[in-house]
Amino acid sequence: MTTKNWRPQTKAVRSGQTRSNFDETSEALFLTSGYVYPTAEEAEKTFKGESTHFQYSRFGNPTVAMFENRLIALEGAEACRATSTGMSAIFFSLLACLKAGDRIVAARQLFGSCHYIINELLPKYGIKGEFVDGSDLAQWEKALSTPAQAVLFESPSNPMLDIVDMKAVCDLAHKAGATVVVDNAFATPILQRPLEFGADVVVHSATKYIDGQGRTLGGAVLGSKSYIIDKLQPIIRNTGPSLSPFNAWVLVKGLETLGLRVERHCANAVKVADALSKNPAISRVLYPGRKDHPQHELAAKQMSAFGGVVTFDVKGGKAACFAALNKLGIVDIANNLGDSKSMVTHPATTTHMRIGAEERAKLGINDGTVRISVGLEDVQDIIDDLEQALGQ
Ligand SMILES: *Cc1c(COP(=O)(O)O)cnc(C)c1O
Repeated sequence: MTTKNWRPQTKAVRSGQTRSNFDETSEALFLTSGYVYPTAEEAEKTFKGESTHFQYSRFGNPTVAMFENRLIALEGAEACRATSTGMSAIFFSLLACLKAGDRIVAARQLFGSCHYIINELLPKYGIKGEFVDGSDLAQWEKALSTPAQAVLFESPSNPMLDIVDMKAVCDLAHKAGATVVVDNAFATPILQRPLEFGADVVVHSATKYIDGQGRTLGGAVLGSKSYIIDKLQPIIRNTGPSLSPFNAWVLVKGLETLGLRVERHCANAVKVADALSKNPAISRVLYPGRKDHPQHELAAKQMSAFGGVVTFDVKGGKAACFAALNKLGIVDIANNLGDSKSMVTHPATTTHMRIGAEERAKLGINDGTVRISVGLEDVQDIIDDLEQALGQ
């Protein structure tokens, strides 16, 4: 049985491991910035690119390589470069396919910092951005009727859990000449593999479910060898958004339990969404696994289960919402997600404060909207806590 034929859970535990000459069972942490060469000739060969000898940890590191290779196996990609954060993964994945005069089309349902990159940063370098509603194919079609060099979206999106039709958007994007970059942080490769739907590049905030316990920041970009090695790698090597070996070690071990954790996150989220939908203090529940989610069928086509995040509106706007959040006894108020601890955030005053009221309204975020990242506590304790806080 070759490693290629391993089933996903076996890949998650075993892919990418390279043992040192100490034959350790667990992946080793190579906390080193540099490497020694047995001879001057070997150093010369390494700098010429004629040897696989490691050179410098900004370029590559054995622990980081184990993380990259394990993620390659899970996403079904040809190549991967790990980065210091999810945002550096997104930013550098775009730099690798854009230059002055180019155009990017993106879903407006994007992680907050992506709005800064597309609206403020890239235009300074002569790159134009255009936003569409990620769930509206007619808007994608119109925006991609003129040439574009990059397309960026996430599905499900943060925080409103909109779903993008990946195959349809990839087809339109490729006709327009664009490289499609998909942020797969919410779904993880356990639930959804965007490359199978035609995406060119997958990016991750490994900070979220891949770590899974809120310890480290990290990111990754995956794609074809020609994109990763020829286009992305020189930028990463020479500008330095590299992943620390320590963080890579936390993350490679995180991948071993990702499947188990995501399965439980999803099972708990289903029950939390169900309980919230019956609560009289709540006016709306968004969860792609529910039949009343407007894109439930599309989500079911693209994902094997529906993730650990649920979004809901508390009746009575900001005051009622804050009063409920302040009464929570187990669930933390925190803007992170994908942690074993359940966390709630109020997007209008935190993660999506800077984009302004008008843009929030377009996304469907109102003053009563709450996002919960459902953790791994006993789900009945999570539900009891939410219900007491909501005054039941
Ligand atoms: C958190 C997050 C990011 C940013 O990742 P960092 O690791 O915090 O830089 C990007 N996209 C999504 C969907 C996220 O949840």
